[in-house]
Amino acid sequence: MAIKVIILLGKSGSGKGTQAELLQKKFKLDYIGSGDLLRARTRKNDYTGKNLDKVLTGGKLAPTAVILKLWLDEVEKLKNKKNLNGFIMDGNPRKILEAYLIDDALDWYGWDPKVILVDISDKEATWRLTKRRICKKCKNILPFIGEFRKMKKCPDCGGQLMTRSDDSISSVKKRLDWFKKEVQPIINYYRKSDRLIKVNGEQSIEGVYKDILKHV
Ligand SMILES: [Zn+2]
Repeated sequence: MAIKVIILLGKSGSGKGTQAELLQKKFKLDYIGSGDLLRARTRKNDYTGKNLDKVLTGGKLAPTAVILKLWLDEVEKLKNKKNLNGFIMDGNPRKILEAYLIDDALDWYGWDPKVILVDISDKEATWRLTKRRICKKCKNILPFIGEFRKMKKCPDCGGQLMTRSDDSISSVKKRLDWFKKEVQPIINYYRKSDRLIKVNGEQSIEGVYKDILKHV
């Protein structure tokens, strides 16, 4: 079986994280999340560890050089892994520069990524983000889609649910502005090279999932 390398793109609130989980389970894929890599790196007590902590706490983006090194180390591990089925990339590329570098790296490893955009409008993203909830106890995030909308308690631990404080309208707007400025050029880049798979994200979780499966 060919190795599946999947790049998931989508605005905050698109539900791409949920889709990543479903795909991971179905195809037994590994997962490279830039957020996880960066958080893990802050635990090292050196220059980058300490400064990265400040950058992330301040809500800023980590530099491309730093994330690319972490990402490459992870990809190298996967390349050497026995019985690799493939992996999903979530949270990268975040800038057009990273898209170029990731192309270069994947080419080196002999892999051709499937690029999937879970597409939702700004209006839908705003609506979903300001309404999504977090479990007080286990910090599980419940998207405001499908069956999750009706839940009164956390499906994992039964904990109380609350809306997230960082999901205010202004912070959502900031995230959408960032997407337009940094991620839209990435989408255009993949589209121009005929590699973009665009899926309508404004349907049920199952509907989005079925559409993605047609392409992977
Ligand atoms: Zn919970």
